[in-house]
Amino acid sequence: MENYLTPNFAFAPVVPDRAQGSHVWDTEGREYLDLAGGIAVNALGHCHPALQAALSEQAAKLWHISNIYTTAPAQQLAQRLVAHTFADKVFFCNSGAEANEAAFKLARKYAYDHFGAEKNEIIACVNGFHGRTLFTVSVGGQPKYQKGFAPLPAGIKHIPFNDVDALAAAISDKTCAVVIEPVQGESGVLPASAAFLQTARRLCDEHHVLLVLDEVQTGMGRTGKLFAHEHFDVVPDIVSSAKALGGGFPIGAMLTTDKVAPSFAPGTHGSTFGGNPLAAAVGNAAFDIINHPDTLAHVQAQGERLQAALRQIGAQHGVFAEVRGLGLLIGAVLADAYHDKAGEFVKVALQHGLMILNAGTNVVRFAPSLLLSDEDLQAALPKLEAAVLQFKAEHGA
Ligand SMILES: *Cc1c(COP(=O)(O)O)cnc(C)c1O
Repeated sequence: MENYLTPNFAFAPVVPDRAQGSHVWDTEGREYLDLAGGIAVNALGHCHPALQAALSEQAAKLWHISNIYTTAPAQQLAQRLVAHTFADKVFFCNSGAEANEAAFKLARKYAYDHFGAEKNEIIACVNGFHGRTLFTVSVGGQPKYQKGFAPLPAGIKHIPFNDVDALAAAISDKTCAVVIEPVQGESGVLPASAAFLQTARRLCDEHHVLLVLDEVQTGMGRTGKLFAHEHFDVVPDIVSSAKALGGGFPIGAMLTTDKVAPSFAPGTHGSTFGGNPLAAAVGNAAFDIINHPDTLAHVQAQGERLQAALRQIGAQHGVFAEVRGLGLLIGAVLADAYHDKAGEFVKVALQHGLMILNAGTNVVRFAPSLLLSDEDLQAALPKLEAAVLQFKAEHGA
């Protein structure tokens, strides 16, 4: 297919055309099993009937009305998020980067309002990923995404992920925010340690710093809890959400408390499309299914099954050194002999009818539908094994 888009994406050689549940068909009619979920977005699989109904019902009522007005769908989704999390208030936007941009701006503004302009430093983690706007790539800890875009926003420090001592040494009364992904997603599906998150909470309290958790990838049921920080017994000040929040319809959200929210006074921040009634209507329908105890238990159970199957395939064929993750966010670390070949593995899997992801260059990532059935999981395994055999034949040492 002719490509008229800017060349910042390296598109796969197949063009998806339609999809249902965990199944996708391309324009040639070939079928794929989707264990990538549109990068942890299609939390309820493709074209879920409840989301279709919510979208078409809202499409017949009201699409867009400007943020001079509030709407029932936006208030209902915010109410759901508040009722089931630490948060008291929600800001809606359209993507993960925008949710983080709002979070970082709010953290700076809160420190400015209460402690003065000097308290502006943001501490984030090496290999963190927070989006592709200039502020979010700067807070992100991956120089490859910053290269060529300087000058970058100032006042940002990076510490190694899970390094309690480095965090203690870096934090000061000039710090306004500590930003952490509960599981580093893009850079390799690496869970935070409870000690790291809990120490971050304590140090933030001691220095009047806001703890910002980027749950764009880990939130909305992905790890078997509504938000991943619930696994670690840590209460944040700000959480960003997007990806699964709209089940495939673009929406982002920044959640915060009544203590912090007033720093976003009228006129301080905004978004034309944020909280759009179509997105919010789909978000409401997605929320009710994702937040159901049966769904969260299913995520936990299928996550364990998929991890066990990956360990078994890894042990049998020697391709994976480690399988890790939380719930249905799973990373299989390639064995030394296949170092940095995750992209190649993903390409081979697609040839065998399996959509999966890489996370960095050395980890194969799985982020399937939270509703992944036993049947689809079982059907994926022979495809995966066939891919492993071809991958070994093509890329083995
Ligand atoms: C995907 C992702 C983002 C960026 O989200 P976009 O919707 O692409 O802007 C930010 N943070 C994390 C942890 C992500 O996984």
